[in-house]
Amino acid sequence: MKNRRFYLAQLIVLAFVCLQVYVLEAQTPPYSGTVWIESGIITDADCSTLSSVTYTGQGIKVVYDRRVNAWVSINAHLFDIVWNDSLTSQAVVNPEFNLKEATVEANKYGFKIGQLPHCLRTDVNEIWIHKGVNAWGGGNKSILIHTDGATWHEKFSEETLIHEAAHTSLDAIHASHPDWINAQNLDGTFISTYAENHPGREDIAESFLLWLAVRYFPSRISTTNYNIITQTIPNRLLYFDAQNFNLNPIPCSTVAIETIESNKSFLVYPNPTTGILHIGSPLDGDTHIDIYDLTGRIIDSFKKSGNQVDLSAFSDGVYLVLLRNNNNIGTLKVIKNGR
Ligand SMILES: [Zn+2]
Repeated sequence: MKNRRFYLAQLIVLAFVCLQVYVLEAQTPPYSGTVWIESGIITDADCSTLSSVTYTGQGIKVVYDRRVNAWVSINAHLFDIVWNDSLTSQAVVNPEFNLKEATVEANKYGFKIGQLPHCLRTDVNEIWIHKGVNAWGGGNKSILIHTDGATWHEKFSEETLIHEAAHTSLDAIHASHPDWINAQNLDGTFISTYAENHPGREDIAESFLLWLAVRYFPSRISTTNYNIITQTIPNRLLYFDAQNFNLNPIPCSTVAIETIESNKSFLVYPNPTTGILHIGSPLDGDTHIDIYDLTGRIIDSFKKSGNQVDLSAFSDGVYLVLLRNNNNIGTLKVIKNGR
């Protein structure tokens, strides 16, 4: 009898331990950090609101530099960035870049940040661009970029920028909002250990990216990740749903060029364009581009590599752009409108 009671007590203890392990298991965030779980939530082929990038000269700016972990004063190359949905920013590029390099970086990140939803760009007053492999940052009404983390940042650049811009534009309003805290409590766990370790600072940024993924790009993430996200933070997803965010330019409509004798399409955007036409898959150096007006007169003809064609010198109007290389040939009607 005594033995049986002891045995029962042992069983109860064992069950209790199992329950505790189960509860701990259930509360463990599924990811360490959310930026790195899916690289194609937004890609280079998606629309950008970038309208223009204009060099305005050099000027003294105080910016953060993670290479020295300090605020530094630099005589920066300055560029006015205009996005086509009434938002603007300024690219502040470290003079360690020469002007030509700085112009490339300002255009590159003007485009990439222009891909982010409107609600993430509202407080991005400045884009700080340095060399170095250090982590990017958000907050301080800015986004901090170190350009040399290319191998890891390049693949996840849009995902990282969504995270950082969420700090810049969403944290102040949402991170301490009672409804958000309520959603955190209802979910009972965090999507990542990074969010769990910094619930006031990282939870919005860690969660927003995945909300965008499951609500707008579910086909771009694995079914496994989709299920994990929707099951782990359902109340946070509902919180974001309820905000009625302005997400322009998402969803984005790209126009596929009608292709001939080819199994894949060129994608170009935006269309209409004010100048820079972005091409979804980078062109190899042997891609011929011919531009015709609607009477069939050839306006320009050149070879191109990279993924941009500049039409800004052209008058407003409708053009036929013919692209051809060894793999593809396609034509597209492009509308040039404004600059
Ligand atoms: Zn963060």
